Amino acid sequence: MERLTYESWFNCDDDFLIDNPSKGALNVLKWAYETYEEELIYACSFGVEGIVMIDLITQINPSAQIVFLDTELHFEETYTLIDEVKKRYPQLRIKMKKPALTVDEQAEKYGAKLWERQPDRCCYMRKVIPLREELSHATAWLSGLRREQSLERSQTNFINKDENFKSIKICPLIHWTWNDIWNYVKEHQLPYNDLHDQGYPSIGCIPCTLPGDIKTGSRAGRWANQTKTECGLHGK
Ligand code: SF4
Repeated sequence: MERLTYESWFNCDDDFLIDNPSKGALNVLKWAYETYEEELIYACSFGVEGIVMIDLITQINPSAQIVFLDTELHFEETYTLIDEVKKRYPQLRIKMKKPALTVDEQAEKYGAKLWERQPDRCCYMRKVIPLREELSHATAWLSGLRREQSLERSQTNFINKDENFKSIKICPLIHWTWNDIWNYVKEHQLPYNDLHDQGYPSIGCIPCTLPGDIKTGSRAGRWANQTKTECGLHGK
């Protein structure tokens, strides 16, 4: 297959077979690292899908580049998990990417608790711009999106033309279910965020994450009581 870029994009999902134990994920990752090498970044939130992604990635590229968007508003449990991951996969290059403004500087400039009044603006400054800066050195990026997570994500393909970042977005886990993810975690005894055992299916920044009922979806508890469902990295 020719080297895909944002400019030369065409749909090539049919090239990846899904009738195998990783439902196509390992084939997609192998192709991605062979195609993009150092121009490929994984933007990891260290949720449970992220842990599976890291374990799969390290089977292909043990020293892969990982970016964590460190909004400085994450739970202590998330930082603890990142330390555990660093110990388990010592060759990984994990970058803690911070926004231009600290939380205090943001409050001084835009008022306290911007996430309550203008969460899209807060996400834009603390997540979208930092990822855009990182992707300026990359041709493609990886994400752990799964189709069953939400209506918005149900149309995701393995290889996507990413209009948000003018990039190629590669999503190896699109065919995995919630049970597939947890079965893999247990089978491989992977570390995961303690908050998952305390009723949080999905974990983001402290002010915008509550426990949630998994029956209402694996994104339950994110921006609860708001219409917002995405942070802006994957569209609205
Ligand atoms: S998830 Fe909430 S606190 Fe985190 S960047 Fe977005 S609006 Fe701000």
